[in-house]
Amino acid sequence: MNKEECIEIVQEYYEEYGRSPTHDSDVIPYTLAKKLFGTWTELIKQSGVLHTNQKYSNLTVDEFLKLFESRCDKIEEGCWEANFIYKKKGYARITYNNITWAAHRLIYTLVKGPIPEGKLVRHTCDVKACCNPDHLEIGTDQLNQLDSLERGTWRTGKTTREIRPKNLPDAELLEWLVYKDCDPDDNGCFIWQKSLDPDGYGLTHYKGVTKRAARLIYILHNNYPNIEGQIVRHTCDVKACCNPDHLIIGTLSNNALDARKNRKGLKFNEQSVRVVLTGYYEVKENKNMLIKDFIKIITKEYNCSAGTVHDIIYNRKWKDVYADFHKNLK
Ligand SMILES: [Zn+2]
Ligand SMILES: [Zn+2]
Repeated sequence: MNKEECIEIVQEYYEEYGRSPTHDSDVIPYTLAKKLFGTWTELIKQSGVLHTNQKYSNLTVDEFLKLFESRCDKIEEGCWEANFIYKKKGYARITYNNITWAAHRLIYTLVKGPIPEGKLVRHTCDVKACCNPDHLEIGTDQLNQLDSLERGTWRTGKTTREIRPKNLPDAELLEWLVYKDCDPDDNGCFIWQKSLDPDGYGLTHYKGVTKRAARLIYILHNNYPNIEGQIVRHTCDVKACCNPDHLIIGTLSNNALDARKNRKGLKFNEQSVRVVLTGYYEVKENKNMLIKDFIKIITKEYNCSAGTVHDIIYNRKWKDVYADFHKNLK
């Protein structure tokens, strides 16, 4: 690849994604860019496209937030995963007005205000790359650890793992997922060591999409069977296990199916949505409870995620009921 080709690639990338590639993206090897241009920034400059940083500086805060949100991967629990930017130890990092931030801290600051000195912004969802302001709150390190302990996502031992190269061929990816992203335990399970969803299942990314690791491993290991509508079960009952020999295809038992439905919030109907909205409205008016605590109560009562409650009270789903409810308030 020569200079012209590098520049062309950057320009094409910019056209397609609306931003310049970061130095760790696969489009151009960093070492090559360095050799040809001295620095990555110089390459971007010569390509005549705006550096991501400059691009953001030209926007108002609202425009920036909108753009940021639209680039995040939205996952089931309402998380906004900032997978489009460079990540360090799982946390997205972003340069905004010449200051490099952990992205979730920047979003918190822009949406909710300054972070008190020495305080952490913690994720109520445990997804490090998540930048949904509804999932961010001020906390202490201790609290953070306690929370993840409760959810069973707290880990000891190895903290640094080899970073999986992007775009591995499927066969190599399978090996990597099973042998490098997992640690074996005494029962023959391979325990997923990366992020877990709130239910305790391993999550990973495949072709830009967040997937359950065990499901992806099952598919790769069994030569791409069509398992649409079916679930991948663990014969060992260990949710974080990714040993292909412990994975089978199956249907959910009725109980599990119900639990799953509840988690997904399917249990909500017009009436219960109204109950939630009424409660939320009362709490907001009377300030007799923190919104956060109200949401907790609802999630317990309906066995749903906080994201589902957010969807209702912030008018993201059940929009008809929301509109009708507010019309009748006036
Ligand atoms: Zn989240
Ligand atoms: Zn297992």
